[in-house]
Amino acid sequence: MDAANPRIRDDAVRVIFLGPPGAGKGTQAARLATRLGVPRIATGDMLRTATLKNTPLGQKAAPIMEKGNLVSDDLLVALIRERIAEGDCDRGFVLDGFPRTLPQAQGLKDMGGDPRSWLVFDFDVPRDELLRRLSGRRWCPSCQATYHVCYEPPKSEGVCDLCGARLVQRDDDRESVVAQRLHEYDERTLPLVEYYRTRSRLLAIDGNRPMDVVFADLLQAVEVRA
Ligand code: ADP
Ligand code: AMP
Repeated sequence: MDAANPRIRDDAVRVIFLGPPGAGKGTQAARLATRLGVPRIATGDMLRTATLKNTPLGQKAAPIMEKGNLVSDDLLVALIRERIAEGDCDRGFVLDGFPRTLPQAQGLKDMGGDPRSWLVFDFDVPRDELLRRLSGRRWCPSCQATYHVCYEPPKSEGVCDLCGARLVQRDDDRESVVAQRLHEYDERTLPLVEYYRTRSRLLAIDGNRPMDVVFADLLQAVEVRA
């Protein structure tokens, strides 16, 4: 059992996805979590759900997210602490969108166990491709599935394949907000690459390839770890 969190088993798989908005983290994290049979913990989805439900967390997060800024570290660390304590995380988890700052990484170290056994995927995708992906991204507000109008279109235009709900464009995928999100990434998230280089198993992933090719790389990395 893990001393930092006695619920988490020693052989638990813990994966972190780093990379700029639009790099494909959510797409790959969902696939990997399904394949490994562990939960995907996506802080962006959790915050968007809280916003749609108008919870106290959602009310705090919404105006910050709308501007493309990062929600406060205290709120995020508390959110993750609570989520990781749930029973379905005993065998591990895939973190998508957390940590995004050094204080968040520090907070995770204190609750998620020994970082030396973690796998950290650092996605790299050129900026012009990120912009193409974000402008074409469509999102299901009901089941949170993600599509792309060209690269991963739903079977029926504008409708979620999985639950039939109407797809929407995320407010923060508009061009003016994307610029601020990329700025936040450069300033506050990029330093995490150096942070994890010496503390965990960090793997650079070329995310500018077809989804299946990227996924094959991730699976291989997980198998090597096992
Ligand atoms: P992130 O979670 O890093 O912000 P997403 O996984 O939501 O990124 O992907 C952003 C958009 O790009 C989505 O519309 C998704 O369908 C599309 N996408 C993801 N991976 C690829 C890929 N390898 N090639 C082309 N499009 C992709
Ligand atoms: P994402 O869905 O991962 O692109 O996140 C969407 C938005 O949610 C971000 O632009 C932030 O405003 C907020 N957010 C998600 N995760 C975090 C985090 N770990 N720290 C701070 N803000 C976050």
